[in-house]
Amino acid sequence: MSNTSPSVKAEILWSTIPAGAKDKILNNGFCVQCRTSVAIVDYTKKERRGVLILEGRRGVCVKFH
Ligand SMILES: [Zn+2]
Repeated sequence: MSNTSPSVKAEILWSTIPAGAKDKILNNGFCVQCRTSVAIVDYTKKERRGVLILEGRRGVCVKFH
């Protein structure tokens, strides 16, 4: 799959992760203001050298700042 785009590769890698592990990853974001872990939303999946990278643009903090 040498012609497969990085985003498609990322989707393939993401699909290999068990649902329970995905939940763990998505609930393992970080709020820099509270210094605590928060859920990640609005993230993008990327693939680099066979490694899946999740880039969260926004975490959901209970304080909504
Ligand atoms: Zn916070």
